[in-house]
Amino acid sequence: MSLAAHALEPAAVGAIVVTPSPRLARLLKQDRALENLRAGNQVWPTPHILPWEAWLEELWEQALYAGLPLPARLDADQELWIWERILATAPEAAELLDLPAAAEAAQHCWALIHAWQLDRREIEAAASEDTRAFLGWACEFEHLSELQAWLEPARRADHLATRLGKLPLPPAVELAGFQELTPQQRAFLAALEQRGARVHVQEEPALTPRQLVRVRFADRPAEIEAAARWARSLLERGEANKVGVLLPDLERLARQVDRIFTRVLEPSAMLPGATTEPRCFNISAAPSLDAQPLVHAALLALELDRARNPLRRICSLLHSSFLGAAETERGARAVLARSLRERGITEISIPALRRTCQQHGCPEMERALARWTAYDEALPGRQRPSTWARDFSRLLEALGWPGERSLSSQERQAWLAWNDVLDRLARLDAVSEPMKRSEALAWLKRLASRKRHQPESELAPVQVLSVNEALGLHFDALWVAGLDEESWPPAPRPDPFLPLALQRRHRLPHCSAEREREVAQRLWQRLLASAPYVVTSWPEQDEDRELGLSPLLRNVPEVTQADLGLSAVPSYAWMPPASAQTEEVKDERGPALEPGVVASGGSRVFQLQALCPFRAFAELRLGAAAVRLFEPGLSRIDRGEAVHAALEAFWRCVASHEQLCARGAEELRSLLVEAIEKALARVRARRDDLPPRLAELERCRLLRLLEKWLEIEKQRPPFRVIECEQRRQIELAGVRAEVRADRIDRLEEDGRELIIDYKTGTCETGAWKPEHFADPQLPLYAVTHNQPVAGLAFAQIKTGDLCFKGLAHSPHLAPGLRPADIPAQLQRWREKLEELGTRFREGHAQVDPLDDDACRRCRMWPLCRVHEAAPAVQENEGE
Ligand code: SF4
Repeated sequence: MSLAAHALEPAAVGAIVVTPSPRLARLLKQDRALENLRAGNQVWPTPHILPWEAWLEELWEQALYAGLPLPARLDADQELWIWERILATAPEAAELLDLPAAAEAAQHCWALIHAWQLDRREIEAAASEDTRAFLGWACEFEHLSELQAWLEPARRADHLATRLGKLPLPPAVELAGFQELTPQQRAFLAALEQRGARVHVQEEPALTPRQLVRVRFADRPAEIEAAARWARSLLERGEANKVGVLLPDLERLARQVDRIFTRVLEPSAMLPGATTEPRCFNISAAPSLDAQPLVHAALLALELDRARNPLRRICSLLHSSFLGAAETERGARAVLARSLRERGITEISIPALRRTCQQHGCPEMERALARWTAYDEALPGRQRPSTWARDFSRLLEALGWPGERSLSSQERQAWLAWNDVLDRLARLDAVSEPMKRSEALAWLKRLASRKRHQPESELAPVQVLSVNEALGLHFDALWVAGLDEESWPPAPRPDPFLPLALQRRHRLPHCSAEREREVAQRLWQRLLASAPYVVTSWPEQDEDRELGLSPLLRNVPEVTQADLGLSAVPSYAWMPPASAQTEEVKDERGPALEPGVVASGGSRVFQLQALCPFRAFAELRLGAAAVRLFEPGLSRIDRGEAVHAALEAFWRCVASHEQLCARGAEELRSLLVEAIEKALARVRARRDDLPPRLAELERCRLLRLLEKWLEIEKQRPPFRVIECEQRRQIELAGVRAEVRADRIDRLEEDGRELIIDYKTGTCETGAWKPEHFADPQLPLYAVTHNQPVAGLAFAQIKTGDLCFKGLAHSPHLAPGLRPADIPAQLQRWREKLEELGTRFREGHAQVDPLDDDACRRCRMWPLCRVHEAAPAVQENEGE
């Protein structure tokens, strides 16, 4: 008989079943419902199954109804608030790096002392400096509690134990799934027995798995994927109705597990618009409430500030589905967000945002912001937490949160959980003074991040749990993953405030490696008893660390992955072809341009077609454009523009090598300062939010950089600068383009011209090889130039790496140039450029990047899906 069935028997005869966790209580209730349904029952009495804390809560309520005099009950949040106040005013406050974390640790230590009934004098006898500090805070806490007649959760069981005689008690109490009972729990249960209740701690029914194996994996993702495929194969073959997958470190890995299990067990959930429920698996590690999109949007909206808002926050809200009229104005808001990004600003005020909303056809958003502003202006500086909770709701209401579309079941549950968090904020009234808005919002965020939110779901056949949660459950088959030597047994984590010797003497949880080993051993035995078929596994590597096998698995026979009969689940990208008769059609060409139609896109036609034909088609024919990413401070583009503009201004004044060499250092410096000033003014015209201090730093940096660069220019033979940033129209292979040379120098020695391109990053002339034509801009200028060309050069103006790189008929034209047959080179480039232009006109659009670097610098991957194709190919090869 499984423990579930075993546990439920007493519930059927009027006893209360108490579990260590809400999850086990819920699963036991679900088991009960399934059994009744299988038995054909239509109705049945609700079993009385409660987690320990809820049971104490129930007894407390009974005591209140019985009219017993009770202290005011504090909840965990109220208790934490008091600890935090005490620590904030303690003499050690200045030394605490993270006061909220220290308050949480003090609260935990206080609970530990009461759960393990530690004697204060024993703690004092071996007190370290930290222990003494904690004892001081604990004294203060106790004093305050007495003064206010408060009682926190840590002492509730002791308090109730003395009043059990006056309460209606159940005839029997069954404890199911407890790994161990604390002395406080044992004392409480003993008091219960004295009052005539029968208390029974259930043991797991003895069961030895018929099959127990271990298997190794290269890394954690491979291990998790295999566990998912194994669960799928058991369900496919009808060999199990209830499959358990356990991970000691589930909380940390929950996102990764969810992604992999969804791909393997619910691939259709990846289809656009697919509903995600009900799913055939359930992961117990609930994410925090603030990770729910609906709550995340609410918290972002509450951070709005009338004067300054980071653009990132505003863009997130403009894209959010949870503000009023989000569906009606979706397109207009997306355009508005893009235009804000393109302005290159970093912050925006609410009045400025309202004006922008009006200009971009977002009247509903503008009206919402107007309502928000009116409400926001009327808020006082300080008020009670409950009033802040009410005002936060009204501010959100003004913005139309939670949106105009109807919420999914998951979103509705998140909305209910959010209301619960607001209630918890309001309950701080009982212990706190009026607080500032920023303080109330910080608490609200903290409460939302501490609240684990697990939407209710139907009983799924595959349960992914942490090891402790599986105690008391029974499965048809069980996989325990992550059993490497670091995770199982886990490393000890003694309490930071209690003396270590005392913790070891009383065998407190996590106090020593020996205790962790014993607990792991006990858990291990109980897990083996929870399924007839148990697979265990461990990864040999986690990121860059080698991992060994847990010592608990040494005697378990090892098998290979092939022995497990894993379901061959292809990735979603390959599923439709595998499941239907298909015909392969290569679709790598768009429509060709009509004869006589001139291709638009300028010189980028040649560059993008060389880097990747698909990118050229997507950007220049389809008009696809990546949203500009926000960069605080000066972007690479800003810095590049400043260098170009400063050198242009300088060479317009100093027009030749002779003039450069004739001027003294001071004169050159003042000319550079003037040129840099003009350049920064040009940048500032676009970036009106540029802080003056940052502009000053850039001014100094440019001056140092360009002074060094002029020293290199002086080493060249005489030249005259004949063009700076000169643009002209060209046409090649039916593509009309505007080309621009950063600078053209005419050589005094033979009148030929050197074409120069400034680069502020590292550049290589390898990018001009026709067979690897990554940067055809300068060759394009050269082949269409109507004067004799002496060479082409990159001027690499990069801090710490200043140099010329290029090709010239003679290397002495500038240090760093290499000799080349320029006319022959021009001919090869012309042929290559004509080929690129022709292929662009013909609509060639293969996903064919020049190299990995081309993809790294491109943001068209959501359209070309090149990354999706790569893993699928690897997966196929693996199979
Ligand atoms: S990401 Fe790579 S393959 Fe995709 S369009 Fe860009 S360059 Fe081409």
